[in-house]
Amino acid sequence: MHEAQFYISLEENKLQCQLCPHVCIIGENRRGKCNVRINKSGKLYSENYGKATGMHCEPVEKKPLYNFYPGRKIFSLGSYGCNLDCSFCQNYHLSKASYYSVISASNASVNDVVDRVINSPNSCGISYTFNEPFVWYEYMIDIAVKVKEEGYANAIVSNGYINPKPLEKLLDVIDGFNIDLKSFTDDFYKKYTGASLEPVKKTLKTIAKRNIHLEIANLVIPGLNDDTKTFGDMITWISDELGKDTPLHINRYYPSYKMSIEPTPLETIVELRETALEKLNFVYCGNVPPLNGCSDTTCPGCSETVIKRTGYKTLVDNINKNGHCVHCDYKIAIC
Ligand code: SF4
Repeated sequence: MHEAQFYISLEENKLQCQLCPHVCIIGENRRGKCNVRINKSGKLYSENYGKATGMHCEPVEKKPLYNFYPGRKIFSLGSYGCNLDCSFCQNYHLSKASYYSVISASNASVNDVVDRVINSPNSCGISYTFNEPFVWYEYMIDIAVKVKEEGYANAIVSNGYINPKPLEKLLDVIDGFNIDLKSFTDDFYKKYTGASLEPVKKTLKTIAKRNIHLEIANLVIPGLNDDTKTFGDMITWISDELGKDTPLHINRYYPSYKMSIEPTPLETIVELRETALEKLNFVYCGNVPPLNGCSDTTCPGCSETVIKRTGYKTLVDNINKNGHCVHCDYKIAIC
């Protein structure tokens, strides 16, 4: 266990964790909603510090990150726990795991992880992923600082549910994010995730304002968040507040955890992509069989394909070394 950051002491040995907007008040020997931060004798500890449930190198596109070191590999690290309670969770074996139920976590020191990043062929850096990285904040930031010192990139795949202060501290060492924007209504967030929308919007705006690479994932669940008006409002907000170069991944849902609704029809994904392309430059489809051009990156200037993707094979073509389209010289938003 490792002492947590961002908490205050209250009366009767209680603590308040201030890492995420839940701001849990935690009594002695109790854990917060994420089930991984525990009050022991008036101190808050992170139980999953140094506990890895997944460590391997994979295409950066798998995160998904499409405009971030395209065609490169990234070392992916996960732990366990989550501060949201999504009834459709696609990784519930990790998000719902706790100190008592995680049997496959291995001990991985900060230095051990950094060594693995450095020694992974063709790796651009590390992604904090698989379960919610904000609930292993201390472990992640300790690794991120060293990875940065070694000249590699740090990327976070997250639900975006974090308070401003810890987020700001992270932004000094993080190079890229994929944030899950699960819906554009607070009602959906409250009903199906146990959280709320506004803090996620705030996180997205903060990252964009700092000019840090940001991609967004939106899992489309039939009947719950596929309403065209709400989806259109979300696209307008992304374009106006975060910029039209923000890549959006529209992902197909499959039944998982507590949700048994049928998978998203492919036509819905294609239609929503058309809507998104009216205002955004880079819109991709995920969890789908190969669909005409839905995984490729096209130049916003001349519509030529500049990155071709077949499965996880990526061919970066038609972009010169300065990041401009070779056909029309448009600067493509890629890092
Ligand atoms: S990180 Fe965990 S303990 Fe802290 S406020 Fe969020 S859910 Fe509660």
